[in-house]
Amino acid sequence: MRGDLDLERRVAFLDLRVNDEGARQELLAAIEAVLRHGRLVLGPEVQELESRIADSCNRKHAVGVNSGTDALFLALKALQIGPGDEVITTALSWIATANAIALTGATPVFADIRDDLNIDPDSVARLITPRTKAILPVHYTGKVCQMTELMRIAEQHGLMVVEDAAQAFGASHDGRKAGSFGLVACFSMNPMKVFGACGESGMVLTDDDAVYERLVALRYGGTVNREVCIEPSINGRIDTLQAAVLLKRMKYVDDVIKRRREIASWYNEGLSGVVDTPKEADGEFDVYYTYTIRVDRRSDLIAHLQEKGIETKIQHPYLMPQQPYYRDAARGSFSNAERLVERILCIPANEKLTRADVEYVVECIRGFYN
Ligand SMILES: *Cc1c(COP(=O)(O)O)cnc(C)c1O
Repeated sequence: MRGDLDLERRVAFLDLRVNDEGARQELLAAIEAVLRHGRLVLGPEVQELESRIADSCNRKHAVGVNSGTDALFLALKALQIGPGDEVITTALSWIATANAIALTGATPVFADIRDDLNIDPDSVARLITPRTKAILPVHYTGKVCQMTELMRIAEQHGLMVVEDAAQAFGASHDGRKAGSFGLVACFSMNPMKVFGACGESGMVLTDDDAVYERLVALRYGGTVNREVCIEPSINGRIDTLQAAVLLKRMKYVDDVIKRRREIASWYNEGLSGVVDTPKEADGEFDVYYTYTIRVDRRSDLIAHLQEKGIETKIQHPYLMPQQPYYRDAARGSFSNAERLVERILCIPANEKLTRADVEYVVECIRGFYN
């Protein structure tokens, strides 16, 4: 055994503990305030959070919900998407995206991705049929999709656009924020996200008053005026406690993003020429929910890094249309995604990493390929 320090070294993919004493006290005070006023569901903090998030994305309305999954499902329901309809989405996302479509009774159609891992607008255009009702792009890894192209395609074909911005709070494209493009946009604030609560939560945004009214009803059993049910739905309300936590954390989200971008720039520099690193084109502002590299000999690299105490993740090892539920009937076209899904690897890039951590990860990856 070499007795060197590297054997002790651990680089965690994520660390959700709140260790900073100031931040911890601030959260505890916010929770205390909710316990004292007692409006535990849809309390005043929820309204404040909704208006703050709507403002930050230049939107008229925001509706707080239980999760990003609920946000997507309720968004599609609010647009009256259902059986017989097709919704075109990307092949590569967390399964919640396809599930939201399938749960409405509509059929997900899976488009290909480009090398930036985001949906390929050309592939979307080729998959449109008379049944297509909507496009559901996912701003994957925290990079906004080619929204100008996608919005043009949607407009040409009279399709609605629902953004899955779960990974992209704070990201932008040509000066426009993630969540500001589609007829409806969805966020997740689960604890893993760049802007995350201390539990499950999500948000749906829109400028359309009628869609907003429907979202508010669908969020709580499809009811209006307290007790009148206009359509069956789930209970998808957000907890006041999570909203209180998010209001506190919103103050720091720009710092978190800044730090993640700094870490990404160190990786870009250190790993250039060794693996394929994420690129940012002019006008793109990515938030690096994940820092996803594309590599050869992936499983050997994972084992090598694990031995060095470095935790990695494959997000996600299966395309959505490769999942058991979807694969037999999966519609779409996604050959580039099938190639890329074998090569993607997320390395630690959370804001708690030090420069020394990043340099260590770089050194270990370079060491593997030398
Ligand atoms: C996290 C995530 C979701 C689901 O959000 P939850 O809050 O976990 O339900 C949906 N889509 C994408 C792309 C995600 O990353």
